[in-house]
Amino acid sequence: MKTILVTGANRGIGFEIVRQLTKLGHTVILTARHAGAGETAVEKLASEGLKVHFMPLDVTDGRQIKDSVEEVRNRFGRLDVLINNAGIMPAGDKSILETDPEITRLIIATNALAPLHLSQAFINCMNREGRIIMMSSSGGSMTEAIGGWSPVYCVSKTMLNAFTRHLAFALSGKGISVNAMCPGWVRTQLGGPNAPRNVEQGADTAVWLSGCADPGSGRIWQDRQEIPW
Ligand code: NDP
Repeated sequence: MKTILVTGANRGIGFEIVRQLTKLGHTVILTARHAGAGETAVEKLASEGLKVHFMPLDVTDGRQIKDSVEEVRNRFGRLDVLINNAGIMPAGDKSILETDPEITRLIIATNALAPLHLSQAFINCMNREGRIIMMSSSGGSMTEAIGGWSPVYCVSKTMLNAFTRHLAFALSGKGISVNAMCPGWVRTQLGGPNAPRNVEQGADTAVWLSGCADPGSGRIWQDRQEIPW
């Protein structure tokens, strides 16, 4: 059984990933930027008979990243899987011709830079066979046609995909794999009520990547299948 940390896990796909991994018997650390929301999520899982651990973690806060690495090391000894799930898609991200610089900075910091910084920090408490999973999006694809929706969000996921490939290359000698995935369009606060998928479907590939025999490294996945970048 593995020790697995999930970011942005108080709701949505991250919460469901925690639920499924805990049901499989893993030791799961649910993290959230607001302690109250994180504790409520932990209590909800406890009411289903599932015991998870909580740590506060705003993924854009370098101090909190350092503290959480120390806490994982002290409480659990090591981390086997890091799931960089936290992400934002603010309503103001409408047109690439009029993007607000502050919104642009916030999206890039949360969706692309934070997963990079978390990965850099947590590899120090991973053994060989450690795994890093990036929650990306087909919106970041360089293969599919541009849709025009939430352009900075899409660019942030393209950047996340590029970080995934470069991290995978840099970590190949250490035996730590780095993969990205798209959950599909999922009914969450971010995905909205019209999305065709439920959170169980959205969480599935992350759960599978956490435990499957050998996912390779530097790849992007959807529905347990490799997809083009
Ligand atoms: P939700 O909006 O339901 O959940 C997003 C989570 O990220 C929340 O827990 C939120 O916390 C957290 N979060 C945001 N900013 C931070 C931060 N600075 N530090 C820590 N946590 C933070 O979205 P989803 O569950 O749908 O999205 C999860 C991931 O899946 C995202 O990376 C998203 O881009 C990706 N994705 C989702 C798709 C979809 O259709 N839903 C499609 C493709 C990709 P808080 O409650 O405090 O805001």
